[in-house]
Amino acid sequence: MKAIQIVKPGTEPELREVDKHTPGPGQVLLKVSAAGACHSDDFVLNMPADGFPYPLPMTLGHEGVGVVAETGTGVDNVSEGTAVAVYGPWGCGVCHFCSRGMENYCSRAAELSITPPGLGVDGAMAEYMLVDDPRHLVPIGDLDPVRTAPLTDAGLTPYHAIKASLPKLVGGTTAVVIGAGGLGHVAIQLLRHLTPSRIIALDVTEDKLSFAKEVGATEAVLSNDDAVDNVRAITGKDGATAVFDFVGFQPTLDIAMGVVGTMGDVVIVGLGDGAATAKVGMFTQPYEVSVRAPYWGSRSELMEVLELARDGVLDVSVEKFALDDGLDAYRKPAANDLRGRAVVVP
Ligand code: NAD
Ligand code: ZN
Ligand code: ZN
Repeated sequence: MKAIQIVKPGTEPELREVDKHTPGPGQVLLKVSAAGACHSDDFVLNMPADGFPYPLPMTLGHEGVGVVAETGTGVDNVSEGTAVAVYGPWGCGVCHFCSRGMENYCSRAAELSITPPGLGVDGAMAEYMLVDDPRHLVPIGDLDPVRTAPLTDAGLTPYHAIKASLPKLVGGTTAVVIGAGGLGHVAIQLLRHLTPSRIIALDVTEDKLSFAKEVGATEAVLSNDDAVDNVRAITGKDGATAVFDFVGFQPTLDIAMGVVGTMGDVVIVGLGDGAATAKVGMFTQPYEVSVRAPYWGSRSELMEVLELARDGVLDVSVEKFALDDGLDAYRKPAANDLRGRAVVVP
């Protein structure tokens, strides 16, 4: 079968002919219907070859939707032909966090060498993908696979990030979204639906700013040296109640820390190498600011996101690529020439 693989760090992925997996005991083989290309794949592709953490070659893709094609022995709780989304942050399944459905924070995953598909073991950018355990599968019913694949990360991650700030996002507050890309444009839709807050989106191009407004931002501001002043001109002295940074480099974290108000949240989702902690201190910021850096989300939260999609609340903007053109699914976002998510349809 064909698969998009990372072969050599620091170079483009490759479309290659590889063996189709055979499901072992307890495993499930999916015929992939759609696979989203996340900016984190780009991060992985550019990791230094020296000390690269995953076995190579590795099939990319941690946002997958497919149809159950084959099950290994002992799997009797999913049936062939069922359309499913893959919950990606695999854990041990039995530790305290896993017991709460939060396999994203599994305490034993590293020790047991358990990694998500596409981030350590072969992922969804292929005709077929292997899933370790049926508990990672959430039936999608009649949801469109192409718009659903990004929900497993570009939907789930902002949902988890926003959910913890919901009690603060009451009437009259402001939420700021930095980076209106794959995750950010879903974050804006979630904030619009789940909160009464004013939503200010920041990005680096006028096109991304108008995209942010199209998906529900109240205001859109260029992310530049004047951004703090421009956001504060909108919020007034209260500042923002929650800032979601989907970039995470020092300039955006400085903006986040510059616009957050008293008792506000700064939520770092982007994998940039900035840090907010250096500025936390009694005399350097408003009172009671909380900073957190969440990772992905829980299994039950994925179910909740899929329910929101079913209710018509989420409209993921996608650009489709055939598997044969799958490398463009990485080139276009890398050139920042895409609205929403690139999705490969094998
Ligand atoms: P994306 O490329 O689709 O979107 C990024 C957006 O940020 C683009 O619109 C881009 O124009 C904008 N941007 C770039 N520089 C900016 C700046 N200085 N100011 C404002 N906007 C800027 O990426 P994505 O797939 O949405 O991922 C976003 C980030 O989240 C990436 O760093 C990714 O690795 C990370 N991520 C983290 C998790 C997690 O669990 N924490 C999960 C998925 C992705
Ligand atoms: Zn991702
Ligand atoms: Zn665990």
